[in-house]
Amino acid sequence: MAFDFDLIVIGAGSGGVRCARFAAGFGAKVAVIESRYLGGTCVNVGCVPKKLLVYGAHVREELQLAQDYGWAVQAGEVDWPELIRRKNNEIERLNGVYRRLLEGSGVSLYEGHGKLLDGHRVQVNGPAGEQVISAERVLIATGGWPQVPDIPGKELATTSNEAFYLPTLPKRVLVVGGGYIAVEFASIFHGMGAKTSLSYRGDLFLRGFDEALRQQLREEFRHKGIQLAFNSHVTSIRRAQDGSLLANMADGSVHNVDCVFYATGRRPMLDDLGLENTAVTLDERGFIAVDEHYQTAEPSVLAIGDVIGRMALTPVALAEGMAVARRLYQPEAFVPVDYQNIPTAVFSLPNLATVGLTEEQAREQGLRVKIFQSRFRPMKLSFSDSPEKTLMKLVVDADTDKVLGCHMLGPEAAEIVQGLAVAIKAGATKAVFDQTLGIHPSAAEEFVTMR
Ligand code: FAD
Ligand code: NDP
Repeated sequence: MAFDFDLIVIGAGSGGVRCARFAAGFGAKVAVIESRYLGGTCVNVGCVPKKLLVYGAHVREELQLAQDYGWAVQAGEVDWPELIRRKNNEIERLNGVYRRLLEGSGVSLYEGHGKLLDGHRVQVNGPAGEQVISAERVLIATGGWPQVPDIPGKELATTSNEAFYLPTLPKRVLVVGGGYIAVEFASIFHGMGAKTSLSYRGDLFLRGFDEALRQQLREEFRHKGIQLAFNSHVTSIRRAQDGSLLANMADGSVHNVDCVFYATGRRPMLDDLGLENTAVTLDERGFIAVDEHYQTAEPSVLAIGDVIGRMALTPVALAEGMAVARRLYQPEAFVPVDYQNIPTAVFSLPNLATVGLTEEQAREQGLRVKIFQSRFRPMKLSFSDSPEKTLMKLVVDADTDKVLGCHMLGPEAAEIVQGLAVAIKAGATKAVFDQTLGIHPSAAEEFVTMR
């Protein structure tokens, strides 16, 4: 059977673009279909704009610090519309970079919504009208979408998608959730100057991260003045007469705010994707079910990235995209994705970063562990009355001396832990850490001086 392409990729996000570019580079004839924005979630409403806003929010702390160092500066107020305009310009520039990357690698770009008609044919609905293209294989890389629980007034909630385009900075914000996005946006809103509260249904936010860091971040948030409510539930949201919002809580209290920001997880983006026209199946959580080669139950259809719900991180989607491109079109270079020891950071203020096992995970696995921990005041705050503390922790296997996990809460944690992830990947022991000389004076040197 003759097809138009070797591979059609639905979704030009992190995973889709990586797979398409490399597949084309390996000689395949590739089409990419994108309905919304080139670069996907990460570039448009994820990692990139989030990090820019975190940088922006951190400026307020730096301005305070400037005063502590004797500079005659005033913090003032952020010009939010101007910040958003600059952010949008940068995203537009990156959209252009992605377009050129795809065109430069010989990929055919179809702008519009892609819907599977069967395992080989995809209907594209876009500005150029409706057309059907076919390929030997189809890769689904359609990512995810914010999920808001079904409560009365849920349509009044703001999610991360809209938060990046708010015309004005809300004065009072209630953040709902306790994962990455909730904690990062609580830092953004608070840093920008909004009165910020966070409501989380469990005992302590960031479930799954090391307990000591979660507790320390709770203290840092409290010191900064972010109001935290744990074991807390929003039951409904309604609009007040003055246009503000009233969030009713299960304990009977009411939050009067200008924005109720929901970050309660993301669902796979399967809307009108035509899966019913194929044999593709979903797993028990509703994500596309794939085997170890990202193969779905439909022989010609594969899926990667957030839509398969493994680890919703850009580097993971990139690695999966690369693995698919290699396996299909350069099998001699194929390397499976290693899901062990994936480093990750929460870009809260301060940052929290981690690689490897938490103390709790190591103990659950029945390992005998030695814990090395250092809590200290960052030198940069020597002239400041900020009580902020940095926390570093190593989880070591008491039997083999191998470092099982590195965890840090503090400025530049993401930058520091990225380097340590290489050591963990290489199987470094605590003795190797001990033999490594520090860079003095730095916060990072604590990781090699803890005894
Ligand atoms: P996506 O990047 O979501 O791309 C999917 C693409 O498919 C989209 O462009 C979409 O428009 C398109 N699409 C969907 N359906 C169709 C269709 N039917 N037809 C045509 N096109 C379609 N990860 C990190 O590693 N670090 C971070 O700091 C980080 N911060 C984040 C902050 C936020 C607020 C969010 C929401 C996510 C963040 N992530 C972060 C996660 C990261 O963005 C995702 O893991 C990553 O983008 C997933 O890539 P993907 O290729 O699976 O999907
Ligand atoms: P997460 O899955 O990280 O967190 C969801 C949070 O919402 C959890 O605290 C969860 O509670 C809570 N929750 C879920 N359902 C409900 C409900 N019905 N009512 C109340 N609370 C609820 O999702 P996010 O939306 O924060 O982010 C999605 C993913 O995107 C992340 O998991 C991460 O993989 C990725 N991401 C990565 C970032 C980074 O690398 N820096 C930044 C942002 C996102 P509980 O813990 O009790 O289940």
